[in-house]
Amino acid sequence: VNDVYKWNLLFGGLSLNSSTHGSPGWSAVGLLRSQDEIILLDTGGQQYRARLAERLAEYDIGPSDITAIALTHCHWDHMSNFPMFENAHIYVSAVDLAWASGLARGDLYVPELYVEELVERERVTTISHGFEISPRLRALASAGHTPGHMSFMAETDDGPVLFAGDAIKDERELTAGAAAMTLDAAASSRSIRELAELCEQEAAVLVCGHDRPLRVRGGKAIPSTIVPEVLNAAPGTLRLSDAWA
Ligand SMILES: [Zn+2]
Repeated sequence: VNDVYKWNLLFGGLSLNSSTHGSPGWSAVGLLRSQDEIILLDTGGQQYRARLAERLAEYDIGPSDITAIALTHCHWDHMSNFPMFENAHIYVSAVDLAWASGLARGDLYVPELYVEELVERERVTTISHGFEISPRLRALASAGHTPGHMSFMAETDDGPVLFAGDAIKDERELTAGAAAMTLDAAASSRSIRELAELCEQEAAVLVCGHDRPLRVRGGKAIPSTIVPEVLNAAPGTLRLSDAWA
């Protein structure tokens, strides 16, 4: 099994909302590396750009080295950095891209100009359930939060990693079996159940869109032993380790 991906979590997600400033949109971003591929799972929102470049540099990766990006869905806090990566082939849900590009301008969560760019861009593959970006990375339909939401199961040096995106935003949604912000509550509940069962069966790390990595045992979430490196912050700034405690 030496052809599994090297796995790193570049950004852990966090569920935050402010009554004055709304959500900072701190979503999870994953990195998969093999001999010939350097793949991002989601890209975060534009506020991540400087830190994203720094995080990649820690692995000696420059923006032009990224070979592929797998997007879970077309919300601003997950997709907005693909323009940094000119050489990347982008994988995006066919259903989600069609939905997002059909919305009127001014949607609250879909960055319409980025979506337009994605529709026009070369080297974009629209995908559906079961699509294999590689034999070690497959897409799982997980609709609800958005109509064509995709999650990704990767075989890695830390075992299977299920990158759920906003199909399961955080531990609360996993525990409740229901999603807080969804376009289809019944579909979301089904997706949460299916992904949680798969995680438990395969003993996979569950990376939620806006939470620390989890594992699922007996239908319950437990913090993963993988503690991402994003815990170190300058004094006086919010430390995710506190928020995750
Ligand atoms: Zn979302």
